[in-house]
Amino acid sequence: MTSAISFSGVSRHFGDVRAVDGVDLEIAPGEFFALLGPSGSGKTTCLRLIAGFEQPTHGSISIFGAEATRTPPYRRPVNTVFQDYALFPHLNVRDNVAYGLMVRGDAKSARRAAADDALALVALDGFGDRKPAALSGGQRQRVALARALVMQPKVLLLDEPLGALDLKLREQMQGELKLLQRQLGIAFVFVTHDQGEALSMADRVAVFNDGRIQQVGSPEDVYDRPETPFVADFVGASNVLPAQLVHRLTGKDAPASLRPEAIQIGDGPLSGKVSTQAFLGSATRIEIESEGITLKVLLPKGRSVPEIGETVSLGWGADALHIMDGRNG
Ligand code: ATP
Repeated sequence: MTSAISFSGVSRHFGDVRAVDGVDLEIAPGEFFALLGPSGSGKTTCLRLIAGFEQPTHGSISIFGAEATRTPPYRRPVNTVFQDYALFPHLNVRDNVAYGLMVRGDAKSARRAAADDALALVALDGFGDRKPAALSGGQRQRVALARALVMQPKVLLLDEPLGALDLKLREQMQGELKLLQRQLGIAFVFVTHDQGEALSMADRVAVFNDGRIQQVGSPEDVYDRPETPFVADFVGASNVLPAQLVHRLTGKDAPASLRPEAIQIGDGPLSGKVSTQAFLGSATRIEIESEGITLKVLLPKGRSVPEIGETVSLGWGADALHIMDGRNG
């Protein structure tokens, strides 16, 4: 199947800064794809390269099989929802949504009908005559979404679109975006620094660090089978055991990840002293100093919690230790 988006050796350098550095990437049509990474890791630059707002320094980009490296943004079958929504305050909601159609020269009645359809799609029927200032944050976010969707893109690009919303609304919009993506059947490429958001929404996730992709995989792949210590730590704050210790425990000479929730207090091959304790509601997180490293342990509610200063033994199930012997490890 032809990829919706294909990057081959794509770099974007700004002077000495390698914002994107040798990225290969394939995104399938109809896929919900997350670009995940810390601030400054190159996610937004990658999205702007797909949109055509940036040109690669090296490499090539194709969109649905057609070479697009030098294609201007307005000729690409993609649209972007920006983090700040970028709505025009003096235009009402309908005219904001219809703006791209007006620029394209569509007739007024067709623009109006298409804008109202797009507003219905994001559950904003009847809001067309309001000004953006008279909307809530979540409603403004939907207008931005409708404005991108009215152009009927084959790929929708979303740059931290939920960043400005409070936690509850964010969670609600995560579910709605996922439903909308399934309903439309087009590819969504979503930039986020929030691993929970990426894991809960995406079909596949690319984890970025320093302009490079560390791993691409399903949410289960990057969470349960991280290929590098960076991915283990960034996606779900896993413990990373150094190669020397792993060698002693397993005979294998590579670092390994061990999820905080996979560790049990009781019998086991390691022991250490509890140094911190934090009650999180549904669980308690403790830290244990052992073998020169600090191990995070998540104890679900109801499990007994050792005191600070107590020495405990630590164990885990047979599959819990994930050896990272990938090329980036
Ligand atoms: P954030 O989550 O903070 O938006 P990001 O992962 O999206 O981060 P980018 O915005 O892609 O990161 O930036 C990657 C690197 O490239 C950063 O070091 C940034 O300062 C640099 N950069 C981005 N755009 C430019 C530019 N126009 N000129 C110079 N440097 C830039």
